[in-house]
Amino acid sequence: MKKLVCSMLGILAYAVVMAQSPLKTYEATITEADLKKYLTYIASDELEGRDTGSEGQKKAARYIIQHLEEWGLQPIVNTPAGKSYLQTFPLYKGGWGEGYVNIGKKKMEFFKDYIPSGLVNIPEEKGLETIFVGYGVKDDNRDDYKGKDVKGKAVVFLSGDGSADGQGWSGTAGLRRKSRIATDLGAAAIFEVFKGDESAWKTTVAERKAVLSRFSRMDIEKAPASAATAVPAFVASGAMGADLLGVKSSALEKYRKADLSAKLKTKPVTIRVKSERADTPVETANVMGFLEGTDRKDEVVVISAHYDHVGIDEKGQIYNGADDDGSGTCAVLELAQAFAQAKKDGHGPRRSMLFLWVTGEEKGLLGSLYFTDHDPVIPLKDIVCDLNIDMIGRVDKKHESNPEYTYIIGSDKLSSELHAISEKANKESVNLELDYEFNDPKDPNRFYYRSDHYNFAKNKIPIAFYFTGVHEDYHRPGDDVEKILFPRYARIVKLVYHTAWELANRDKRIVVDSNKP
Ligand SMILES: [Zn+2]
Repeated sequence: MKKLVCSMLGILAYAVVMAQSPLKTYEATITEADLKKYLTYIASDELEGRDTGSEGQKKAARYIIQHLEEWGLQPIVNTPAGKSYLQTFPLYKGGWGEGYVNIGKKKMEFFKDYIPSGLVNIPEEKGLETIFVGYGVKDDNRDDYKGKDVKGKAVVFLSGDGSADGQGWSGTAGLRRKSRIATDLGAAAIFEVFKGDESAWKTTVAERKAVLSRFSRMDIEKAPASAATAVPAFVASGAMGADLLGVKSSALEKYRKADLSAKLKTKPVTIRVKSERADTPVETANVMGFLEGTDRKDEVVVISAHYDHVGIDEKGQIYNGADDDGSGTCAVLELAQAFAQAKKDGHGPRRSMLFLWVTGEEKGLLGSLYFTDHDPVIPLKDIVCDLNIDMIGRVDKKHESNPEYTYIIGSDKLSSELHAISEKANKESVNLELDYEFNDPKDPNRFYYRSDHYNFAKNKIPIAFYFTGVHEDYHRPGDDVEKILFPRYARIVKLVYHTAWELANRDKRIVVDSNKP
């Protein structure tokens, strides 16, 4: 009797599986256990932080390829040795050369008296007049530049905006935004005067130095040695700031409180910063696996993530990048497996799909740039959309009390249909809170421009970017697999799966019907 019930239940279960739509059947292949297995390897110390061009990154590529082979995805990159999963190309790495800033005759030292903001290159010495502009803040209500002509001069401003909370104007008073204002007004160089004591300055210098050496940019083209950056920006120590303004250090506070610039006798500067940029080649590769569609195979749905991270720092600490972007890397693997299995069982997508792992994201979105601008492998006009995944494993401050969310960025910018498909897919599957906050073009984070999808979007290819926000371990050694929220991570992968399924199988290719900033 017992036996009979069992086998009857077995038949029933089998019938349920058979009645289930293929969409649901292959959704079930997306599991927390798989994601955890992949990510435990991808974010392990053995891969040494997957820095672009490193041996650790090559290990990650081999791991991805081993799965693509096992699941039967096709290699489509043409090489002299035949088709490959690897799109190999060189990037060019730069470094810091000799540099100085002199105030009058007094020589200031690099990474002691001042630090550069980003990569600066001034190959020929420049002599500049300096001008003080308070906090360098300018918006509809306030203008620290009023009555001052800064064209062709070195602008000096104090850090912050003069308010205690940094909310004294419409913007966040960061150097990046204030530099843009100065640049727009024609400044030739920018000095922000650090606020804080000697020991705070020393800590900042050490941190900046570590960051700049770790995140040294690379370039796709070998840069000519004399290429100068637009407007160099520096942070100066309090002492150097006082020198620039021709006042005693102890008097700086006064200038923080009131605009006494009329009384200042600022001193001219001479600047030269030679950065030996972009001439050492580093070989790296994008990884991709192709799944050929059926009756719409010339149209291609791309799913992407970057598999590089930032490597090891000067102290030997490994940055494992479990969230950034181990989470995206393993999500794309799990999606490749689901669609490959569907195809094997006769439920393959109507459109073709390209699973793409790009390199050099942390060096300036270079792998995706190489793909879209140098060698797309498939014609860009045939790419229906790019679903890009970068950091979906953690929870940001805003969602601490409700981790069942994801940000989706950019889905409505080029195609209203993509946005609608994404919303419907979510409702019919995992029902996460979809947060569109970062679609606001005024958002200072500018995430729409900050991951690989942007290289597709700028070519008018609709994109959706999946992201769960920044957290305290972002670009720090603590971005580890133990801190990944796997249940919610798997749900986001399922959301991408449902969206991709519809994009790949619907009758009509989605339209490009808008162009929002
Ligand atoms: Zn990333």
